[in-house]
Amino acid sequence: MDKQEMLYEGKGKRLFSTNEPHYVIAEFKDDLTAFNAQKKGAESGKGALNCQISTLLFMLLEKEGIATHFVKKLNDRAMLCKKVSIIPIEVVVRNIATGSLTKRLGITEGKVLPFSLVELYYKDDALGDPLINDEHCLILDIAQLNELEVLKTQALRVNEILRVFFDKVDLKLVDFKLEFGRDGEGEIILADEISPDSCRLWDKNTNQKLDKDRFRQDLGDVKRAYEEVLHRIIESK
Ligand code: UDP
Repeated sequence: MDKQEMLYEGKGKRLFSTNEPHYVIAEFKDDLTAFNAQKKGAESGKGALNCQISTLLFMLLEKEGIATHFVKKLNDRAMLCKKVSIIPIEVVVRNIATGSLTKRLGITEGKVLPFSLVELYYKDDALGDPLINDEHCLILDIAQLNELEVLKTQALRVNEILRVFFDKVDLKLVDFKLEFGRDGEGEIILADEISPDSCRLWDKNTNQKLDKDRFRQDLGDVKRAYEEVLHRIIESK
C-alpha cells in the first residue's frame, strides 16, 4: 500500500491517502497538546508508543467482536486503517471522577462513580468541544437517534473489555474518549486511537497517573509513563 498525499493533520496524527480508496494511513505524531491546544509540547518517541498501544488495544477489541477501523500496523508510528467519515462527536466514558467532570459538577476527584457514565462532546475546536446531548446531535444533524444508541452501546462495551483488561495489569481505567466513523457502507465503526493521550490510567496500588495528565499537570516523566503502560500491556499477553 503506497502512502500518498496528506488528507488531514490533527493534534496527534496525520492521515494519508493510499493507492486504495478505502484505506488510509494514520501516522502518530510526537506532539502533545492540552486544554484545546492552548498548551503545546512534544515528547520524542511518544508517537511510536501510542501507535503500538493503539494497535494492541484495537486488536484486543477486534478479538472481542468490536468493529474498528484498524487493519494492521505498518511501522513504528503508522497504521493502516479503513477510511471512514468521522462523526464529530467525542464519546467519553467515565468510571472514576476527575478532569472536567469534577470541575463542572463539583464531584470529588477520585470518587468511583455508581455506574459508568457516557457523555457526548461536540468535536469543534472553535467552540471548545462543548458537552452536548442527543437532541443537540439531532439539531446539529451530526447523528440520528439510532446511531447515538450504537455509539453509547459500543462505548460501554469497549469500557467493559478495557476495564477488565487493564485491571489484570494493575491499572485503573479512569475515563477515556472514543471517536467513531461511518465506513463506505455506512456502518459505524470505532476509529481514531486508544492511547494514554485519550485515556486516563492510574496505577491500581498507588494511583500514580500514567497518561497525558502528566503533561497537562506538569508532573514530568510523560514518556516513561507511556512506556510503562505499553510494558504492562505486552506483559499481560
Ligand atoms: N479527552 C480526549 N480528547 C479531548 C478531551 C478529552 O482524549 O479532546 C479524554 C481525556 O484524556 C480523558 C477523557 O477524555 O481521558 C475525559 O476528559 P475530560 O472531559 O475530563 O477533559 P479534560 O479534563 O482533559 O478537560
